[in-house]
Amino acid sequence: MNPVATPVSAPISLSVPVAMPQERGLTDLWLQILDQLAPKIARSQFITWFKDTALLGKEEGKLVVGLPLPMTLHWHMEHYRDMTLETAQQLDSTVTQIVYTVDVGLKDNRDRSPDILERFPEGKKRKVSGRSEVRMAEGIISKILNPNYMLENFIVGSGNRLAHAACQAVAREPGGKYNPLFLYGGVGLGKTHLLQATGNAILRQMPRSAVVYTTSEDFTNQVVEAIGQKKMEQFRRRYRMVDVLIIDDVQFLANKERTQEEFFHTFNALYEDHKQVIISADRPPSELDLEDRLTSRFERGMIADVSAPDYETRLAILIEKVREYEIFLDMAVLQFIAEHAKKNVRELEGILMQAVALYELEQRMPTVRSIAEIMHKLNKDESTKENVGFEKPQKRRATFQEVMEAASKYYSISMNEIVGESRVREILLPRQIAMYIGRHKLGVSYVHIGEIFGNRDHTTVMSAVRKIEKAIQNDPQLLREVRALEQELSLVE
Ligand code: ADP
Ligand code: MG
Repeated sequence: MNPVATPVSAPISLSVPVAMPQERGLTDLWLQILDQLAPKIARSQFITWFKDTALLGKEEGKLVVGLPLPMTLHWHMEHYRDMTLETAQQLDSTVTQIVYTVDVGLKDNRDRSPDILERFPEGKKRKVSGRSEVRMAEGIISKILNPNYMLENFIVGSGNRLAHAACQAVAREPGGKYNPLFLYGGVGLGKTHLLQATGNAILRQMPRSAVVYTTSEDFTNQVVEAIGQKKMEQFRRRYRMVDVLIIDDVQFLANKERTQEEFFHTFNALYEDHKQVIISADRPPSELDLEDRLTSRFERGMIADVSAPDYETRLAILIEKVREYEIFLDMAVLQFIAEHAKKNVRELEGILMQAVALYELEQRMPTVRSIAEIMHKLNKDESTKENVGFEKPQKRRATFQEVMEAASKYYSISMNEIVGESRVREILLPRQIAMYIGRHKLGVSYVHIGEIFGNRDHTTVMSAVRKIEKAIQNDPQLLREVRALEQELSLVE
């Protein structure tokens, strides 16, 4: 699932004349279409994308669907246009085409669009087992594999593609070519998820196999206990019965010579027996502070790193988590989180959970502003800690959506016009200024800006931004206007 894949060139229109929404027929038809679509789409996705939408017109065979936010346009075209058309055609055979129009006036305006939260109420929540360990036959302790960690719900991006592919290969053929499999990378980037998902996948195919997942701390404790109870032989025998041994975070075996020695022997025995070993650490084998004979064993197999996800991957992860948690959040909120929580996925999830709490405990729908406040607070409280995962908060309060809104208000043009096609100066200039502010003050990428502005090419955005950069050097009035806008958005240093 790639939310920002290049769109098919589709008949889209941003400036179609808007029909009167009072037309009951349109509302009824839209409700019928939504009724058909809802069961085909995960609820969280459905609510996210169809909230505040409306059928605004029908001209000959063309249905004009109104969307409340410019950023949802692309997604609708990519994911829902065909489905919507098909459904509409089943209900009304004269329909030939779906076109979209962005109409920000639809947002939270109950008179103009159906209340789909009410019409499609929430179902039941899933439950997660509270147990954390299993004692397996032969007395080996394995942590319970979290069933929610699957290879299928792991979002693949450039930073983790190789690691994910290696895990899939191991799941298909444990003890085969990729043995041992060694994954490394910083905290919160998905190593544990991948390790457990691989264990889950193997168990699904071979339910009787002994898959043991343990952390290096637990392994150490077991060694210490076995030594204390003089049951070392028994410990070794047990571990040799394992089919798949997964050890998470082996960097913590540093300075634990006795445990390293035991692990070395266990590893060798399993390896000789073509049993799969999967290991993770926060750095590559060569940089681990472990015995050489151990690290050289790790280097024998497949080594893959897991690095920080890019914007698109972060957004896709958020959409996946939202789906899993069966909640719905505005796309603008998800984009805001993806834009600002950059370092690791755990932070990303943390903020998402805050949003969920806000929604569940206070019955408040998270908005970009409330999320910005949460992030600001988190960032402040933890500013002394490393790895917080966000950029400086001061410049980060406004969102790109707000920049666009502020620019359209300031220059008295509509949001439709600002994202539209018109090249009249009165409209072009505010559009270029919004792009300039988005790029310079919010650090939004050219590509992303292009997508938000009706899928313009990033080079178009780049030249717009350059144009404003140049123009404000020679035009003090324009400079004042841009600064005034930035001030309004609290983006001035
Ligand atoms: P690590 O072990 O590298 O510190 P985790 O595996 O614990 O990281 O990941 C932290 C959280 O982020 C987990 O909840 C995990 O499900 C989630 N996560 C990380 N990467 C991804 C991804 N690519 N797709 C989906 N979820 C991810
Ligand atoms: Mg981990």
